[in-house]
Amino acid sequence: MRLSRYFLPILKENPREAEIVSHRLMLRAGMIRQQAAGSFSWLPIGKRVLDKVCQIIREEQNRAGAIEILMPTIQSAELWRESGRYDDYGKEMLRFKDRHEREMLYGPTNEEMVTEIFRAYVKSYRDLPLNLYHIQWKFRDEVRPRFGVMRSREFLMKDAYSFDLDYEGAKAAYNRMFVAYLRTFARMGLQAIPMRADTGPIGGDLSHEFIILASTGESAVFCEKKFLDLQVPPADIDFFNNEEIARVVTEWTTPYAATEEMHDESQWASVPEEQRLSARGIEVGHIFHFGTKYSAPMKAAVMGPDGKEHFVSMGSYGIGPSRLIAAIIEASHDDAGIIWPEAVAPFHVALINMKAGDAACDGAADELYSKLTAAGIDVLYDDTEERAGAKFAIADLIGLPWQIIVGPRGIANGEVEVKNRATGERETMSVQAAIDRFG
Ligand code: ATP
Ligand code: MG
Ligand code: MG
Ligand code: MG
Repeated sequence: MRLSRYFLPILKENPREAEIVSHRLMLRAGMIRQQAAGSFSWLPIGKRVLDKVCQIIREEQNRAGAIEILMPTIQSAELWRESGRYDDYGKEMLRFKDRHEREMLYGPTNEEMVTEIFRAYVKSYRDLPLNLYHIQWKFRDEVRPRFGVMRSREFLMKDAYSFDLDYEGAKAAYNRMFVAYLRTFARMGLQAIPMRADTGPIGGDLSHEFIILASTGESAVFCEKKFLDLQVPPADIDFFNNEEIARVVTEWTTPYAATEEMHDESQWASVPEEQRLSARGIEVGHIFHFGTKYSAPMKAAVMGPDGKEHFVSMGSYGIGPSRLIAAIIEASHDDAGIIWPEAVAPFHVALINMKAGDAACDGAADELYSKLTAAGIDVLYDDTEERAGAKFAIADLIGLPWQIIVGPRGIANGEVEVKNRATGERETMSVQAAIDRFG
């Protein structure tokens, strides 16, 4: 992409409303635009990151056996009356009427709707296990929307729903999602720690929040430092080998880790002092087993091998891709701007022509651009007439992993500079070497 033909609305000034660094950098780098309280448009580079994050989530959901669908954002109140949640949900739910005076709502989550789909089609235990997910906008009228897309009112969610014959099956389904989450966050360059979460009236121990440690996190968290050394399972792990998957879950749930609500001082006291990590965290994902909470009132049952009807045992599994992007920035930035992990970067390379209009610079930069683009590399080519200093500042701010800098002095020797955004290391090389390096 040539910057001269792109839409990258950089802000020069620090926006006053931004209280945390990710919000500030997302606004400054032209990733998002606030449209109303807690509601944001995704501008071109923001949209590119969002797509990459969703694609990683999708690949790991699919790998773990979940199947993608797409449900509407608008739901009918009728459905929510069946589960009894319509009256319970409270003010976070945005409610309205259509022209026929039918009560509608903008979905804050989809348990009811997916249960309705399930019960319409699935009648036998032979069709289980089943896990359906979608990536769709949600609306929650948060009391205090803040920190940009970290806590917004309209936000994207990946929500998956598992259906099994019994608790054993549901637990295996839960474990698959647990491991899928470990892989998902690791692929984005994040250290996410699964922490025991409240199961409320459901009980049991099958609820975990996946937390990114960050000083700006909204929850206080307590965990053992051991987590930082645990291995995330490889891509070829067999998700349907229940024992192997359960082993991974055990490994990742044995060290102490809990959010404030679940914190237990007496257990914490038995963790050696030097192993304790008490910090703040951001909830980027949440997995939850709730058994027959929806299947019983909504009558979602299958025939079991015993010839009897069983209400299916369910779980739900959420990830907030929009919040995740803010969390990635909280975890990866410096004074100059964002530092994207390669897997989610909006472009791979910033190609900077220090002196647009100079024949030698233009020639080399154009050649780099066309060859790298042809090799399938995402290049953002700064071919504008800005000063070199401003171009460097923009490249650092938007945080692409690599910069290739073409300047008149270097090009006189046929050389360009390659800079690593994360380390700041610079290397001088020939134009051809730069093409070979990335192409
Ligand atoms: P929180 O405790 O932050 O309010 P939650 O527990 O209400 O989140 P869940 O219902 O567990 O959220 O939803 C699944 C995921 O959706 C969360 O883990 C988070 O990543 C994301 N999410 C929830 N609320 C928001 C929001 N207001 N803005 C952005 N992402 C959100
Ligand atoms: Mg909430
Ligand atoms: Mg929560
Ligand atoms: Mg939650």
